[in-house]
Amino acid sequence: MSTITVSPLADLSDQDLLARTLRLAADERQATALLVAHLAELDARRLHLAEGHSSLFSYCTQVLRLSEHAAYGRIEAARAARRFPLVLEMLGAGSVTLTTVGLLAPHLTAENHRGLLGRARGKGKRAVEELIAGMHPQPPVPSVIRKLPTTRLPVEGAPPVSPASALPDGAPAGSPASSAATSRARPAMVAPLAPQRYKVQFTASAETCQKLRLAQDLLRHQIPDGDLDQVPSLALTVLMEELARQKYAATDRPRGGRPTAAGSRHIPAAMRRAVWLRDGGRCAFGGASGRRCAATGFLEFHHVKPHAAGGASTIDNIQLRCRAHNAYEAELYFGPLTLDGVRETPTGYSVRTELGIIVSQPAGGKYGQPKQDIRASFH
Ligand SMILES: [Zn+2]
Repeated sequence: MSTITVSPLADLSDQDLLARTLRLAADERQATALLVAHLAELDARRLHLAEGHSSLFSYCTQVLRLSEHAAYGRIEAARAARRFPLVLEMLGAGSVTLTTVGLLAPHLTAENHRGLLGRARGKGKRAVEELIAGMHPQPPVPSVIRKLPTTRLPVEGAPPVSPASALPDGAPAGSPASSAATSRARPAMVAPLAPQRYKVQFTASAETCQKLRLAQDLLRHQIPDGDLDQVPSLALTVLMEELARQKYAATDRPRGGRPTAAGSRHIPAAMRRAVWLRDGGRCAFGGASGRRCAATGFLEFHHVKPHAAGGASTIDNIQLRCRAHNAYEAELYFGPLTLDGVRETPTGYSVRTELGIIVSQPAGGKYGQPKQDIRASFH
């Protein structure tokens, strides 16, 4: 038995570390596919019974020491693989995962399995859920707004209020069917029902609920039945327009804007808008293997050639970055940031702000003013 030691890893080059990690993941997939194949055979021979276990699940968790989740996924895959050996091949190659096999398994038939597995190739959990919803469209679910009990005891009361046009008027409305509801917030859920249709469930605060009711009333002329898809959709459209206007100056009526003074770090509204549109509202960081980051949240404007190094505030020199990549590139250039967000460099000090790193040259002398003064100027 070999002993795993971590210390030599620190001596690996980045390239070797990436290559070895990739190989290990491939080995792990192969090992998983092989284990699934053996479980399928063991299951067929019902050896777990002979070994004194009432179920394969019990054998997997207690003898093989798999976690319950791992055991469940492997047993499902094993049973699918017995019917359709293609599953094993695809698991080993990494073109399906235990999770996606588990989702697909109940829908696989002798006739459709090649086509369906082919369509699921390389897809993640959400995409496979959508694939299945497309095959078996579910009827729309009724709109429900239900008051959750504030204690952990089940609350008795009227049945859930539906349809959306009749929101409960503050009265507690639980149902015997919902008596499992507790004071704990339930996790949010987005599940595809059919092509282009989703079931969305989340726990809202009383304030959100009240706003929703007010918006329904204010929109009554436009949306007479207060449809619970249309109201939030309209509200989110307005919100996104407003956020884009504020954050990226994405207005239909650009006001020219003053030209940027040479050497200024200021990014005029028109330039922010142009950069945002060019980068498609998405982080423009390109990874070493050519992958572009997919983040669309917490975007910041990034100077490709740092401002401190004479990089100008021009459309060509500014790109969108997510917060993580902006910080990553700043660290590559400036070195690690101190805890208080102030970084000392040979030429000055930098301070992290909403729009990235602001660098200030010391006023006098090579190691100019103390950090305190710089920090104060950004407050
Ligand atoms: Zn990014």
